[in-house]
Amino acid sequence: MKNSIEVKHLSTSYYGQEALQDINFSAGTGKLIGIIGPNGAGKSTLMKSMLGLIPIDEGQISFAGMTLKEARNKIAYVPQRAAIDWDFPIIVLDAVLLGTYPNLGVFRRPKKADREWAYECLKKVGMEDYSKRQIGELSGGQQQRVFLARALAQKANFFFLDEPLVGIDVTSEELIMNILKSLRDEGKSIFVVHHDLAKVEEYFEDLVLLNKKLIKSGTVKNVLRPELMREAYKAQFSLLDSMGVFS
Ligand code: ADP
Ligand code: MG
Repeated sequence: MKNSIEVKHLSTSYYGQEALQDINFSAGTGKLIGIIGPNGAGKSTLMKSMLGLIPIDEGQISFAGMTLKEARNKIAYVPQRAAIDWDFPIIVLDAVLLGTYPNLGVFRRPKKADREWAYECLKKVGMEDYSKRQIGELSGGQQQRVFLARALAQKANFFFLDEPLVGIDVTSEELIMNILKSLRDEGKSIFVVHHDLAKVEEYFEDLVLLNKKLIKSGTVKNVLRPELMREAYKAQFSLLDSMGVFS
């Protein structure tokens, strides 16, 4: 469908061990969609599978009627912070500039206008004063803001962020969520792997609840139900319940 992202019969395994089992869901464009589930549920694997970053066993994924190949330069991905090599020697502005490469074409080098646009994107995340710093020198929240700037620089329509709010300060969290909400209001689709269930209702319209299989997808109200959460989180459920997550 033209206005949704669809995942059909997606299965992925690592070395013969199944990590995702026949996942089916569709999500409307112009939405903030949380991907939730316990540790090891396959949340990161789902994102990587949807983006063609790892081989899948089976499945079709479409982005507003486009194949991955057709949609590729309209997709921005921010991996889990732990998966990024922060010792890689690159300054902040250049890291953001990398986000403009999908729009540059193979033989073009970044020009003044590209640098200016990268700087604009840094401004949006309040990191322009750090443009010449090495990325490894930044705090967790600052790093995450820079990677969001890089995603913004890509002028994408589809955003995928894997646990962007983990290990960051409150100011960065608010700033990032505000930017994601304004992207949503512009009609972009934003998938966010998220683990803090206390904030789920505040942050997202729709949820995809996973534990190897799809437990449920849909509106927050329809997914955040005790019986479904129990099925997904199993042993951890009573702890979550006692924390008042479902009340
Ligand atoms: P989540 O992001 O929900 O915590 P992951 O998608 O990272 O879960 O992992 C899902 C399952 O796949 C886990 O059992 C994990 O151990 C396994 N897994 C993830 N990445 C790899 C990999 N590169 N090689 C082998 N197994 C992996
Ligand atoms: Mg993960």
